[in-house]
Amino acid sequence: MSNSQPVRGTHDLLFDDILRHRHVEERAFDVAKRYGYGEIATPVFEFTDVFTRTLGGTSDIVTKEMYTFETKGGESITLRPEGTAGVARAFISGGLAQQTPLKFFYRGPMFRHERPQKGRQRQFHQIGVELLGVAGPQADVEVIAVGQHILNELDLNGAVTLEMNSLGDPESRAAYRDVLVAYLSARKDKLSEESRERLERNPMRILDSKDPGDREAVAEAPRLAAYLNETSRSFFDKVKAGLDAHGIAYKINPSLVRGLDYYCHTAFEFTTDALGAQGTVMAGGRYDGLIGQMGGPATPGIGWAAGIERLSMLLKATPEAKRPIALIPVSEAEEAMVLSLAAKLRAAGFIIDVAYSGNMKKRMNRADKIKAVAAVIIGGDEARDGNATVRNLGTGEQKAVSQKDIETALAAYKS
Ligand code: ATP
Ligand code: MG
Repeated sequence: MSNSQPVRGTHDLLFDDILRHRHVEERAFDVAKRYGYGEIATPVFEFTDVFTRTLGGTSDIVTKEMYTFETKGGESITLRPEGTAGVARAFISGGLAQQTPLKFFYRGPMFRHERPQKGRQRQFHQIGVELLGVAGPQADVEVIAVGQHILNELDLNGAVTLEMNSLGDPESRAAYRDVLVAYLSARKDKLSEESRERLERNPMRILDSKDPGDREAVAEAPRLAAYLNETSRSFFDKVKAGLDAHGIAYKINPSLVRGLDYYCHTAFEFTTDALGAQGTVMAGGRYDGLIGQMGGPATPGIGWAAGIERLSMLLKATPEAKRPIALIPVSEAEEAMVLSLAAKLRAAGFIIDVAYSGNMKKRMNRADKIKAVAAVIIGGDEARDGNATVRNLGTGEQKAVSQKDIETALAAYKS
């Protein structure tokens, strides 16, 4: 095997791909900041038990998808498959309990060993938010509103649907679990092997299985909504009312269950039809049990994560890179003057390209190729008089200006 290939499921980001990627990331953070979210960057690897303890032994991530290795010192380390566990770990190690509520935005690579296909990589990237320390439904509403706002800002609101469900509090879920297990046990022969195992360990996951037999078995199964206690129902009503007040449309999806044990109350996903099987672009929920389960002080939390690659694919256009101004000496004699002018303009904040070599024609071709907005041409006469010719490369219009006034003459071309 040639080692100049990227590892399966990984990608280089350059040209349009990186422009789209950064656009998603930057617009998202810009919106999150307007809601008071600050950035957190946790390490890309953690001790393995940060993930096994939080994601639970039955989740797909832990059972199949983690990149785990042993260090030279004999410690078990895992490349992070998702962002929440690391943020919760940072909250505990940093002793941040006294500083709640805390609002974090994160972005960066995640790693999961799954079958690569469109919208599914082994190294992919997420943006996400976490709101820690707020038990009330206002937090759920705000976190969903930030997500919706980001999708609006990316001009994707027409392409996605918000689906939502309540997983209830632990009491409601325990009551429902018993009913569900009894119901599915009676239909065990229809269930996939995986779901038969889940029946004991994580029966609610069977509800969102894609296996045809499982689907048939759960089609008429009792719904969690019927088993929500008063507290859970009133919590969910408040979330819905809050979204209505924000003018955010949602669809209730009773089979939306997040795979992880620590989720409760609100679970939601923004989905699209435009990406085939990889239809979920943003997913999240409330995880009040998580930080306590990790050994930290009981702290409610809610958040979401979105795949940057999937969002990038949905963008209607590639954002334009900032366009440079080309500085062009007519002959070698003017090169030194051009270089010092370039230094002055860069110091003033202009994006300046100076071709490394070639005659004037070759340099003009390069200016076109790099999509320069304007060219500043200096020949023998201009050099002698301290002037320069500024040419608008869109219209072809040009004028002579004094080099002293060059910044003013170029102001219209500043990115
Ligand atoms: P899926 O059902 O597509 O496997 P998931 O439930 O595993 O998604 P989450 O763990 O909720 O996904 O991650 C949140 C988001 O991260 C997803 O909605 C998706 O946009 C993105 N994502 C997850 N796994 C991948 C991957 N392997 N490649 C690219 N994006 C991914
Ligand atoms: Mg997955």
